[in-house]
Amino acid sequence: MKKLVSMLLMLSVMLILTANPGQAAAVPKLFLNGNALASDVEPRLVNNYTMVPIAVVAGGLGYQVSWDQATKSASIHNGQTQMTLTVGKSTALVNGQQVKLEAPPMIDKGRTMLPLRFVGSQLGLDVQWDNVSKSVHMKEQNPSQPGEGGGNPSLPPASGQIQGITYDGISRFSIDYDGVISPNAMLVLTGPDRLVLDLPNTSFGSLFEPGTPSGEASYEVDGHPALSGIRYSAHADKPVRIVFDLSLPTTYEVTQSNGQLNIDVKYPEPGAVPSPGPDSGGNKIYKVVIDAGHGGKDPGAISITKRQEKEFNLAVALKIKALLDKEPRIQPYMTRSNDTFVELADRANFANNLGADLFLSIHANSFRPDVTGVETYYNRESSRAFADVMHKHLVKATGLPDRKVRQANFAVIRRTTMPAILIEAGYLSNRHDDSVLAKEEVRDRIAKEMVDGMKSYLKLS
Ligand SMILES: [Zn+2]
Repeated sequence: MKKLVSMLLMLSVMLILTANPGQAAAVPKLFLNGNALASDVEPRLVNNYTMVPIAVVAGGLGYQVSWDQATKSASIHNGQTQMTLTVGKSTALVNGQQVKLEAPPMIDKGRTMLPLRFVGSQLGLDVQWDNVSKSVHMKEQNPSQPGEGGGNPSLPPASGQIQGITYDGISRFSIDYDGVISPNAMLVLTGPDRLVLDLPNTSFGSLFEPGTPSGEASYEVDGHPALSGIRYSAHADKPVRIVFDLSLPTTYEVTQSNGQLNIDVKYPEPGAVPSPGPDSGGNKIYKVVIDAGHGGKDPGAISITKRQEKEFNLAVALKIKALLDKEPRIQPYMTRSNDTFVELADRANFANNLGADLFLSIHANSFRPDVTGVETYYNRESSRAFADVMHKHLVKATGLPDRKVRQANFAVIRRTTMPAILIEAGYLSNRHDDSVLAKEEVRDRIAKEMVDGMKSYLKLS
């Protein structure tokens, strides 16, 4: 089934490309830190206010977003800021304070839309509306980024800048690039098979991440039958070089428009993919990253009995680690193993740099007191199968209502390149869920079921 879905997606990409020769897909309308945000709803002008879909923007910043149908209210939080917004109501609750909105939230195609100005001021964004391209450009005013920031003063004057590289988890790399490339810029090299794209007079923009002091970075790519990784480097007096490492020879397509360079690495012809033999991967040791949400100065959600989410997350993560330490075929790694604060980007980079096979982020949720149950979130389609397996085990472990597998834009599951999920093991704002999640035996059961789920997904049991 998974393969069929991938094939259909690939076919639709090919159809779009065939239908519009020389043109890329529709121009994205929302940009965050230079990266296009995928959204099914476009920003729109209502009574002179630009309205934007809040879930897409807040999700892009790593906030958790939940929606309550009964009261038509959306809640977003990131451990530090908690906001509740109600459709048609022109005041919002921000960290317990009433804040006036320029225009009341409204629903468009099932999405909650908020005035852009409110979103900017409350989420600390610098916002600009580009009337020519009808697009919204948002920038974090203090993006917390380690070190160099990517700009290298020794580079010659650049004719192009790369502001971001994203992978859709299926086949497409989108590079936010304002330069122009020649049609034959991509080189196909063999021994080993790889595609090489050189961009002369190009630098990495200050918003690009993760920049490394050496100007080089490499990542493994998961879920593509022919593509195994991507590397790039920027050195003074040399073109920026982007290398797509292939495990099988395959073809590609490059399209460019409106500041975006799209590279589609095609799936190889059917039959080119060797079917795994009986011994294939028989002794592979899988690297699994366990990510205990929040920590240190960031407590996460505060429960109805004033317990802190970060404590629950860490306790369960440590139990999972202890169980995985006994598994011969799984090597666990922790993004934190004590009460310390770790940036979201660093959690994802840790897993990417490690070449992890799976990423599991542990959280508990918070909303209205009457909302109860468990959710499992994924971002990229290639994480869906992992989410489906793990969610069944999460429901079984907690015995709480099944609030389903959902897609979301949380930073840790978006920025990671391997199958990555985030579990919300219950609602700390609900008295029953809070008491369930405080129990040692429930925490033990969650840990055991998470390990069983991983083993089942990896076909180790
Ligand atoms: Zn959380």
